[in-house]
Amino acid sequence: AFEGLTERLQNALSGLRRKGKVTDADLRETMREIRVALLEADVNFNVVKDFVRNVRERAAGAKVLDGLNPAQQIVSIVNEELTAMMGESDVPLNKSPKIPTVIMMVGLQGAGKTTTAGKLALKLKNEQNARPLMIAADVYRPAAIDQLKTLGEQIDVPVFEMGTDVNPREIVRQGMAKAAELKADYVFIDAAGRLQIDEALMQELVDVKEIAQPDEILLVVDAMTGQNAVETAEGFNGRLDITGVVLTKLDGDTRGGAALSIRAVTGKPIKFVGQGEKMTDLDIFYPDRMASRILGMGDLLTLIEKAQKDFDEKQAEVQMEKMRQNTFDFNDFIEQMEQVQNMGPIEDLMKMIPGMANNPALKNLKVDPKDIAHIKAVVMSMTPAEREDPELLKRPSRKRRLAAGAGRPVEEVNRMLKQFNQMKTMMSKVMNGDTGQMEQMMNA
Ligand code: GDP
Ligand code: MG
Repeated sequence: AFEGLTERLQNALSGLRRKGKVTDADLRETMREIRVALLEADVNFNVVKDFVRNVRERAAGAKVLDGLNPAQQIVSIVNEELTAMMGESDVPLNKSPKIPTVIMMVGLQGAGKTTTAGKLALKLKNEQNARPLMIAADVYRPAAIDQLKTLGEQIDVPVFEMGTDVNPREIVRQGMAKAAELKADYVFIDAAGRLQIDEALMQELVDVKEIAQPDEILLVVDAMTGQNAVETAEGFNGRLDITGVVLTKLDGDTRGGAALSIRAVTGKPIKFVGQGEKMTDLDIFYPDRMASRILGMGDLLTLIEKAQKDFDEKQAEVQMEKMRQNTFDFNDFIEQMEQVQNMGPIEDLMKMIPGMANNPALKNLKVDPKDIAHIKAVVMSMTPAEREDPELLKRPSRKRRLAAGAGRPVEEVNRMLKQFNQMKTMMSKVMNGDTGQMEQMMNA
């Protein structure tokens, strides 16, 4: 489903991009696509609704519609909103003012509770020289206790267990006493999970919470579970008032859309992400990275750049056709100047014109940006009629008016008009394959 999401978003955004300018209708259509895409990716309906509304409001407020690169702006708004909806970055574990800090692991069977408990215990050992204790309170699967014991040996952390015949409430009660005796500074309670949430499990967890008074209840969620992740999160949070989330198995090929729903539905921070089966495969949660992952941002940005380039090329083609027909006017000139300012030095741009790249005449061409600003000021002083028909500017009175309007000497206006006409002739020749003429001019 998440592959589909990326594809849909890419389609929606590239459709937008091809147009260059975005109308309000375009934006609405794009947001509709994004909405469908997120829904298809199992992001919760209400979450999607909020998300789309936020993006639309911001996009409108940001005057994206007149922007120079609207598609890119919308992508970055989408990305920022996704990031914002995923909450804070780098939220630490809660810590009790006096030892031990108690961390209860909850979640469905196979989500990664036991593995994550081990990872966190190791992390605390390494970073804080902590002395954790892990309590084996999942009595429904004999293998679960062995698994925790094996992990404990591997990371050198003691495990308290009483086999599978004792009630988990009693195990936790005695485990807490053991922690006090060992002066453990962290206690991890590896609680039982089920394939589905049921009342017996919930009641057991509520009782364990009552007994252990945890500082942190971490809901462990498998990132590969789609829409179910929301139900799971709602179920556990509703009964236990969780304090944080760990998203596991992000090393798989999931886009991690579950992160978006879980955060939005519970309002609780995602604190860590699991990125593999090894004890060191645990990372701090970064919302911006998660957003990029959900969007497939790396691919998207490449796509945007490419589409933007196509667009620029099309505009350039239109202008080249005008040059060829010698109808290039000051409107085209201004348009080209604006492109030039976005694209870099004019001498580089000239070299991009077919047939000019390796022309020796261009070797020594240098254009002062200040000159460009002056030229632009003169063109801005022209009337629309003058811009369309440079011939009108032969009249001295008009030249004087331009000079006054642009605040430049009239000789400069003269020189500029002469250069424009030369350039126009030259371009027309070049476009029609007569490069000899151009070289002659540039060397003059
Ligand atoms: P529990 O039933 O919630 O205690 O889940 P476990 O900790 O036993 O994990 C279930 C399976 O998922 C095990 O095979 C783990 O090795 C694996 N697992 C847990 N976290 C991750 C993770 O971040 N990435 C990968 N690839 N596998 C994980
Ligand atoms: Mg387990």
